Amino acid sequence: AVQVTDLHKSFGGTEVLRGVDLSVRRGEVTCVIGPSGSGKSTLLRCLNHLEKLDHGEIEVDGELIGYRRHNGRLHELRERAVTRQRAGIGMVFQGFHLFGHLTVLQNVVEAPIGVLGVPRAEAEKHARELIARVGLAGREGAYPRQLSGGQQQRVAIARALAMRPKVMLFDEPTSALDPELVGEVLEVMRGLAAEGMTMVVVTHEIGFAREVADTVVFLDQGLVVEQGPPAAVIDAPTHERTREFLARVR
Ligand code: ATP
Ligand code: MG
Repeated sequence: AVQVTDLHKSFGGTEVLRGVDLSVRRGEVTCVIGPSGSGKSTLLRCLNHLEKLDHGEIEVDGELIGYRRHNGRLHELRERAVTRQRAGIGMVFQGFHLFGHLTVLQNVVEAPIGVLGVPRAEAEKHARELIARVGLAGREGAYPRQLSGGQQQRVAIARALAMRPKVMLFDEPTSALDPELVGEVLEVMRGLAAEGMTMVVVTHEIGFAREVADTVVFLDQGLVVEQGPPAAVIDAPTHERTREFLARVR
């Protein structure tokens, strides 16, 4: 469902992604691990075209993201077309990024109504289902400040799901949470994976990656050093740099 080919991205003179290839099949979970600064967030931001690419391409369900091909060359899409593509790619960040002046229900229906033009009644019905699915039934009228960090992050997941995304991207969704709130968010993600959602998850939760990932990708200095099933990459890494990293995070 997601195909990244020879992705290069620089900031200033520094090449942060130096030729990344990544393939995520429909219904599979890929966990991306790697040291701080290795380019994990940049990779995710490229996937929904929050960053322009210097070289390479990204496809989601066969559709080129951020560009169109014309006479063999890539031309960047207009903002409106990018917005339409992003609607199919859910993103959950480290921080919660909820609208503070909107209730839980209003946060979840905002984009389906505003971007997709879903009728309000239908959007609200779907939103209530999603809010229940992330374990927050009864809290539809609450404001973000009245919720714990874990609850806010679950609302952020429901909000992303409200767009019926083809793929969900998570960038360290639990790293800003108090330790006792991490589990409830991982539980929601585990459920999504079990239901067959295609997911790319940047995480430091090695236990989660081992349990849920179909594929683990170890990114270091802008390159995929090692990728494969958790039993290989996490439990029997072949590269010294992967071993060093895992020894540090465990
Ligand atoms: P972390 O685990 O700390 O979140 P990361 O693997 O997500 O790290 P990135 O955020 O992708 O790493 O950053 C990779 C490198 O690119 C870093 O050196 C960072 O400083 C640099 N970088 C990222 N975004 C920008 C930007 N907008 N402008 C300049 N440099 C950037
Ligand atoms: Mg990051």
